[in-house]
Amino acid sequence: MSALPTRLVIDRTACAGHGMCYSAAPALVESDEQGDPVILLDPVPDTHRSDADTAVSVCPERALSLARTTPLPASEETSR
Ligand code: SF4
Repeated sequence: MSALPTRLVIDRTACAGHGMCYSAAPALVESDEQGDPVILLDPVPDTHRSDADTAVSVCPERALSLARTTPLPASEETSR
C-alpha cells in the first residue's frame, strides 16, 4: 500500500492573512487578490517538503499544517 500524499492545509478560521507563509515558501503558497493564501502545489512534492515545513513554522496563527491525506474534491474544500 502506498503512503498518503503530504498536503499543506489552511485553517481559514485561524488565518489572519499576514502573508508570512507565501513570503517564506513562494513556490508553495501565494496570495490571492484579497491577500488570502492559496496553495500552489497539492500534494506537496518531496522536493518542496522543507519549504512546506518552513511555511508551517512561520505562521504566527498556527493556521497552516501538514497532513497526510487524500485531496478533497474541489467542491468540499473549505470556502473562504
Ligand atoms: S502565515 Fe498563517 S496567518 Fe498568515 S497568511 Fe499564511 S496561513 Fe494565514
